[in-house]
Amino acid sequence: MDFDTPLFDSTLAEAWIRAAAAAVEKEQDRLTELDSAIGDGDHGSNLRRGFDAARTALDGFQPAGPGAGAVLTRTGTTLVSKVGGASGPLYGKAFRAVGAALPEPAGPAALAEALAAGLDAIRILGKAEPGDKTIVDAWTPAVAALRAAAAAGAPLAEATAAAAEAAEQGALDTVPLRARKGRASYLGERSTGHQDPGATSTALLFRALADVTRR
Ligand code: ADP
Ligand code: MG
Repeated sequence: MDFDTPLFDSTLAEAWIRAAAAAVEKEQDRLTELDSAIGDGDHGSNLRRGFDAARTALDGFQPAGPGAGAVLTRTGTTLVSKVGGASGPLYGKAFRAVGAALPEPAGPAALAEALAAGLDAIRILGKAEPGDKTIVDAWTPAVAALRAAAAAGAPLAEATAAAAEAAEQGALDTVPLRARKGRASYLGERSTGHQDPGATSTALLFRALADVTRR
């Protein structure tokens, strides 16, 4: 075992969800502000409720094996059941798909493919294309960056940091876009000039992932 290249396992998965819950708690008001500008102002409270419940669902949870899968599948199921709005089913299905792809502890390449499966789940359910000003606009570049870093041989911490940076840039890049999916699309041209709330929360999730793998 090479101790310089830790694997993404159930312990890191639980740390990720707890870090994500803390980030959502801290940024709840900002997410709500963004959603007030081009949606109905509930994205912060939706995710707060969901990730609080996801965190609680992991208290005392004993995953059957060392893989990250059980933790993330449980998180996805919790998000689907606790979050109304578009983001609950989208993130819930995504986490379930990521979890299903991680039965064993994973290196950067396997983690990238699992997160790609999460993106597929989001796209199958929401039917958004890149450029539609949604979660997809942050999740897509994050997966691409993680894949590229993994292919270049980067360890987990470095690969997830690249993914977080790409997700953050992807979220920033939604500002000039016109929304074509979700509530913001009702605004048409008036949705331009605002950062998408869902792309912003996706960036928070990837930053939380990078933070816990760096420890
Ligand atoms: P709601 O829009 O039902 O109020 P939220 O406010 O929780 O739900 O989430 C809004 C976010 O969901 C948007 O900012 C957007 O990023 C994302 N979203 C909406 N529809 C889709 C879709 N079809 N595919 C991907 N993401 C979407
Ligand atoms: Mg909303």
